[in-house]
Amino acid sequence: MSASITLHCDTLWRYAACAGQLITDAATVTEAREAAKKRGWRIHPDGNDYCPNCSGNRIQPTVNVVQLRPDPA
Ligand SMILES: [Zn+2]
Repeated sequence: MSASITLHCDTLWRYAACAGQLITDAATVTEAREAAKKRGWRIHPDGNDYCPNCSGNRIQPTVNVVQLRPDPA
């Protein structure tokens, strides 16, 4: 697959930023965020994205790469 859009968690801890990220092959940020929401991400209208852990969803993501489109045959 060719990942094109990566969402980064915007949570800032006291000493560091969260390293959470979600790699997608979405064509648009909107599409990437829709995929992220289904995986427990919290998407804020102000443009910040928060990973499942920071959103309190207690989802331990096992896959951080989301493929929305099949690979071209
Ligand atoms: Zn986070």
